[in-house]
Order: sequence, then structure tokens, then C-alpha cells
Amino acid sequence: MNEKSQDKEPAADDWRRQGQEKYLKGIKLELRDYFLYGEGWEHDHCEFCNDKFSLNDVDLKKGYMSEDGYRWICIECFNDFKDEFSWQVKI
Ligand SMILES: [Zn+2]
Repeated sequence: MNEKSQDKEPAADDWRRQGQEKYLKGIKLELRDYFLYGEGWEHDHCEFCNDKFSLNDVDLKKGYMSEDGYRWICIECFNDFKDEFSWQVKI
């Protein structure tokens, strides 16, 4: 165990890691209600856990969106990876 494990950081081999640091590190995110990116768009998936965002009741309705509106991260994954990815959250 490591001394500074004050809260539960995801393990180095957490299954949700798939090289996202290449395109998600340090980007600006905004917490907002999910919306459809464009015509013909139906849903998105969390960049980490792949949970589904859509306007259907059973799916996620709120999350962190990248500035370009193209990438979504669910609240749970945001909390797990925010330190590691140094996101700038727009308030
Ligand atoms: Zn997620």
C-alpha cells in the first residue's frame, strides 16, 4: 500500500484505462445535462466505463462534456480519474 492513498484512486491496471491520456489529459470539461450532438445522433458512451448517455430514462443524463461536445465522461469516472487527468472544469 502506498502512504498517500488518502482516497481510492483507481489501480494502475484499472480496466477503464485504454490510453485516454493521449486525448483527454488536461482538457476542459463542463458538467452538464446530456444532449444529442447532432442530427441522427442517439447516444454517447463514457470515455472510461462505456456507460451509455442518452435521452432514455435508463441511461445517464448528466456528465462531464469536453469543450467540443464530442466526448462524455460519467460522474463516477470523473471523480476516479480527475487527479490523474488534471481536467480543467468550467464552472
Ligand atoms: Zn464512466
